[in-house]
Amino acid sequence: MRQLNQSGWMHNRCRMIVASFLVKDLICNWQMGEQKFMEHLVDGDIAANNGGWQWSASSGMDPKPLRIFNPHTQTQKFDPLCKYIKYWIPELSKVNNSDIITGDILKSERKNYPDPVINHSSQQRLFKSLYAEI
Ligand SMILES: Cc1cc2nc3c(=O)[nH]c(=O)nc-3n(C[C@H](O)[C@H](O)[C@H](O)COP(=O)(O)OP(=O)(O)OC[C@H]3O[C@@H](n4cnc5c(N)ncnc54)[C@H](O)[C@@H]3O)c2cc1C
Repeated sequence: MRQLNQSGWMHNRCRMIVASFLVKDLICNWQMGEQKFMEHLVDGDIAANNGGWQWSASSGMDPKPLRIFNPHTQTQKFDPLCKYIKYWIPELSKVNNSDIITGDILKSERKNYPDPVINHSSQQRLFKSLYAEI
């Protein structure tokens, strides 16, 4: 989100990860994210943005409700050396890559970077149970 706020752009992989996180980890309405993106994206496009958010929220084209992006495995796969993360979060520049990937970062190493707001596994279970009620 720092990249979006500071540069007005974000790679497609990150757009999918943050969209999944907002909807399926934080259990928030995708339209909040759609609006935030339109306020900041230099390439903001109503059709592509709406399509991207609804795809990520599983309410649009190709709805795979249980397509939930795991932030840890996504980092492992697409930023294994944590170059992207350490560039946009310099507070973590001295932290071991494996700790960043698992999210197990000691408070002393955080340099005021906030604690995780949720636990991905428990939120994933919550999302699936809520979705099962629909
Ligand atoms: C939640 C979410 C929101 C998005 N919001 C927007 C948006 O507001 N505007 C936007 O143009 N794209 C949006 N996208 C699609 C995609 O992320 C961007 O088009 C792409 O990241 C732009 O970077 P680029 O120009 O380097 O793309 P490149 O990969 O170089 O692609 C070149 C062009 O192809 C088109 N394109 C590529 N991927 C997609 C895609 N998945 N959907 C539609 N068009 C695509 C774009 O016009 C892009 O500029 C969104 C995707 C998601 C998951």
